[in-house]
Amino acid sequence: MILSTDERVLEYARFSGGVDRSELARELDLPQPTVVSSVRRLLAAGRLLAVDAEQGRAARGPGRHVLRASGPKPLLGLVGWRGGQVRATLYDTDQQPVAATQREAPAPRSGAEGLVGIIEELVAQAARRPDAALHTVVVSVPAPFLRGKGAPREHSTLRDLPRGFHVTNAEDFDGYLAGRFGLTVITENDANLAALGEQYARTERIDNAIYLTVGDDGIGSAVIANGRLARGAHGYGGEIAHLQLDRNGPLCHCGGRGCLWMRVRELTRPGSAAVEADPTNLSALARLSDGRDPGAQRVLADIGRMLGRPLGHLSTFLDPEVIIVEATLGAAVDHIIGGIAETFAVEAPPVIARNVRLERSSLGNTAEVRGAFEIAREAVRRG
Ligand SMILES: [Zn+2]
Repeated sequence: MILSTDERVLEYARFSGGVDRSELARELDLPQPTVVSSVRRLLAAGRLLAVDAEQGRAARGPGRHVLRASGPKPLLGLVGWRGGQVRATLYDTDQQPVAATQREAPAPRSGAEGLVGIIEELVAQAARRPDAALHTVVVSVPAPFLRGKGAPREHSTLRDLPRGFHVTNAEDFDGYLAGRFGLTVITENDANLAALGEQYARTERIDNAIYLTVGDDGIGSAVIANGRLARGAHGYGGEIAHLQLDRNGPLCHCGGRGCLWMRVRELTRPGSAAVEADPTNLSALARLSDGRDPGAQRVLADIGRMLGRPLGHLSTFLDPEVIIVEATLGAAVDHIIGGIAETFAVEAPPVIARNVRLERSSLGNTAEVRGAFEIAREAVRRG
């Protein structure tokens, strides 16, 4: 689909709380005069509005003003999984939640059809807001996933395996759900979304980075190479959780043995650790760590030490500027980062160990939301 300049400007403005001409020129990679004439046409046609940057009212006279799309206020829906539940939230263009709903997560094999109920609720919530309109729903999948193809079906359902992938259907989720609801639906791996959010939130552009997520639902990672997400050919790109550490280790739900995620679970299990927490309840560990529990801090640092080796190998291949660790666990993440740094220092080549920065995400727990807005704008950025 080829979009005209006016369509690109309008779509970019639609997902923004307010945008100026310089941002449009920079983000859409257009010459400033092209943006100026496009904005003039769209203002004259009443499709864009100039509003006061501080007060959001129609701009009068000189002073800083920003551009917004006219018509109902656009809403963006974000669907994600947390602790056995699927949660759907409506966001306004300031990326603030305005409504939310949650229900039991659908069976992983139910595919796109399993998400129809929660998206219906989201559509109903949006319909209760006459001044707003839902345009786009982003589905953030905590599993390997490739847009247009869905999830790799290969996974084990043997009994007694830990909870595995939340989505295991190989189908075009976006096409199916878009046809069902008449909305734009974008399905993406959750770590990829968060990495995208982090990439665009930074004033200094990052072109090469590894983004790591560590939470109750597992470990995920995303790779940004040469400025773009590296998704791989089957959606498995960046699935660091399933890197093998031990050929004879415990069986994993991916069908492999001794995967990194299984080893992390062993570390956090009561008995091997001096904490009374769920086997994979990293939030509980983080809370104990914040209360200066030395055992919890040790387990988090051990997780970091375990992650350091595969991250060192990955970094030797990719030579990233930075490894960014998601911050949904709060300050406790610093213990994980400290552990990564220790292993990194001895297991990565000196040039890599010295030059690759290790950072906590600057976005707190909002990276995924920011990423959802950015991915909605991906098509207009490219034109
Ligand atoms: Zn595995």
